Amino acid sequence: MSRTTSLGEIIGHRGAIELLQRARRGDRLPHAMLFQGPESVGKGTVARALAAAMLCETGGDLACGSCPACDKVAHGNHPDLLFVHRLSRKIDKGGPMNDVDDASVSDLSAFIRIFQIRELAKHAAFAPREGRCRIFIVDPADRMNPESQNALLKTLEEPPGHSFLILIASRPHLLLSTVRSRSFVVGFAPMPATELAEELVERGIPHDEALARAALSGGRAGRAIDLDLDELLRRREHLTSGLLSLASSPKAIAELSKLAAFLAGKDEDDLIEGLELMAALLRDAARASSGASHEALLHADAADQLTELGNRLGPARAGRLVESVEKLRGELRFNINRTLLAESLLAAVAGGPLP
Ligand SMILES: [Zn+2]
Repeated sequence: MSRTTSLGEIIGHRGAIELLQRARRGDRLPHAMLFQGPESVGKGTVARALAAAMLCETGGDLACGSCPACDKVAHGNHPDLLFVHRLSRKIDKGGPMNDVDDASVSDLSAFIRIFQIRELAKHAAFAPREGRCRIFIVDPADRMNPESQNALLKTLEEPPGHSFLILIASRPHLLLSTVRSRSFVVGFAPMPATELAEELVERGIPHDEALARAALSGGRAGRAIDLDLDELLRRREHLTSGLLSLASSPKAIAELSKLAAFLAGKDEDDLIEGLELMAALLRDAARASSGASHEALLHADAADQLTELGNRLGPARAGRLVESVEKLRGELRFNINRTLLAESLLAAVAGGPLP
């Protein structure tokens, strides 16, 4: 039987989980919650684990993992746990909020549409079918267009007593302030890499591999466990040597456009990952060139190259580049020109103005 990760088994996020559990014990769990934090940090995992605990027939703090309700949650067919996803991504088992015939799917871009939110509002008013409550997980909530967000306001403001809404967003700046202000915000942050590595070692991953996985995942447990280590090490090597050559020979225009295409990737998710890795490498470069020991770097196993990169750029400029990368990443909107953005950042590495 497949099972849902229980709240007790989740790596990290102890503060957020304890907050939610205390609220549950006091019967004070907010009916409208916004889980926000970087991509793949564990927001969805915590939301599903929380839902499982709320629906478990034992009524305890944690889902038991073996009652019929837990079984249904694990198989995605509990009638009181409903997901709203963007439509062009063919996810899970559909469910009432995602029902749309195949012919029309291709006509819709990847947004959560107003009719899905209207369905949600309707279903939120229904009494629970089997459990004590109904839980709606909107993921990714930042893919609701403004119309959909407006349609959700009334439900967020006066949610029916038995219904709980969990909005999941890695780009909360795309949500209307009216949506954010009506939701109880729970923040999720990556773990310090050393802490995550310790957790991975406890789960049987060899020490050096655990360190590499923790660093390459950017402190995100789920990704640290699932990532393709060889592939990511290759990507890191490619990006590091590309940055080094740009910092060394600012006229390497051909190099710049090849690296920009690599960084831009196939879609926004690729670009975000590339920018995160770039920021981490530049941060290490800045620290190494200011005299930090190799062991203190996140990517300690690439310390020689990163020290050279830091020395070429100088610690102050490397630091400012980190800020630029993070600012652009934080403000990323949909439908941007990814290649142009990557080119402007890489031109800055090659000595051009900071974007
Ligand atoms: Zn159970």
